[in-house]
Amino acid sequence: MIVSCPKCGKKYSVPDDKLGDTPRRIRCRSCSEIFTVSAPGVKEPHPPAEEDSVSRARRLARVLASDMVVYNKDLVEKARREGNLAEVLGTEIERSWQLWKSRFPAESQNRPDVFRGALNDILANGKHVFDSWAPEA
Ligand SMILES: [Zn+2]
Repeated sequence: MIVSCPKCGKKYSVPDDKLGDTPRRIRCRSCSEIFTVSAPGVKEPHPPAEEDSVSRARRLARVLASDMVVYNKDLVEKARREGNLAEVLGTEIERSWQLWKSRFPAESQNRPDVFRGALNDILANGKHVFDSWAPEA
């Protein structure tokens, strides 16, 4: 098959039988660009879409948890000491959950642990306070 360098466009002829079943990385002899070539019918390895959206969901959950800490600093510190974060921050957590859920409906359904993990890590400073937390609705 003929492949062309995505950077400089130089064309190469690669024998199909050299490609095998797995995509090969090729270095362009003209511009040194490294690119991946697959034999016809072999799919490029893409990270599963689900994994991508879970990491995006995790990122947002951590941002929301950080915001709660930033905007309620004194309250959070007091509640951390008294061990009643879930009660004291209940409304804030619920609001964050709703926002998170509206952005990541599938993850809120399948991976609520991602949201709980962000609460544990950031809001509870690494303590497993929210392992059994569940949204009200
Ligand atoms: Zn090139």
